[in-house]
Amino acid sequence: MAVAEYEQLLGKLRQLRLSRMAELLDAALKEAASSSMTYLDFLRRLVDEEFRARQERAVAARVVKSRMPAIKTLESFDFSYQPSLNPRKVWELAELRFIERHENLVILGPPGVGKTHIALALGFRACQAGYKVLFTTLTDMAAQLRASHADSTFLNALKTYTAPELLIIDEVGYLPVEEQVANYLFQVVARRYEQASIILTSNKSFTEWGKMLGDTVLAGAILDRLLHHATVLTINGPSYRMKDKLQMLGRKEGQS
Ligand code: ADP
Ligand code: MG
Repeated sequence: MAVAEYEQLLGKLRQLRLSRMAELLDAALKEAASSSMTYLDFLRRLVDEEFRARQERAVAARVVKSRMPAIKTLESFDFSYQPSLNPRKVWELAELRFIERHENLVILGPPGVGKTHIALALGFRACQAGYKVLFTTLTDMAAQLRASHADSTFLNALKTYTAPELLIIDEVGYLPVEEQVANYLFQVVARRYEQASIILTSNKSFTEWGKMLGDTVLAGAILDRLLHHATVLTINGPSYRMKDKLQMLGRKEGQS
């Protein structure tokens, strides 16, 4: 192919936003010329690469939009450190049928046992599978909704938390909640009920929710809807954050 023709083709591929194909064209042409590749194989290879690159970009964009603070995977989760957690149950959740069925997941346990890690890992998988995901903490969500109340954009703000196919509400119970937080949480949980999934993490057992939210009746109404179609994972183990420290202490004791 003449240089001018080649440059023209590259320009058109870029205009059509087939950037991966443009990137690979030179190498693909050289390979095709020196092999017995069919025309169909040649085109298919370029199109497959473009397709894959686009999917990767779409996943990356969904991850950014999800506002997840980190990328975590189940592959990097050490199940042997948390024997109270059934790996089979977690891997089943990773198939994401609960999102398809608009069911919820509640992860309970003390600090450092991997609640957020598992929530993030499932959130990442959901992004990979094409779902719209949003990550928030209860404190942040309540602050956003409260601010929107003040400037009367409440219904719009509420949509931020009702629209995603998966909403992750992290750290329910860590900080003392202010007035109205129970109300905001109820609004979100009730609107998503049987419509879209929530993953919620908390260090408080359900019996403590009335006190935590400062309203027993609302806490009951929230739990009723949240748990109607839900999986509850309880992790009762040592904090992973302490793992290295405990190991170091163990070693020191062993030495002395
Ligand atoms: P929690 O939300 O329960 O307080 P995190 O999920 O934030 O705990 O876990 C604390 C840190 O330890 C994170 O960096 C997380 O990735 C890591 N972590 C926790 N449990 C495990 C585990 N079983 N295997 C690997 N990393 C873990
Ligand atoms: Mg956490």
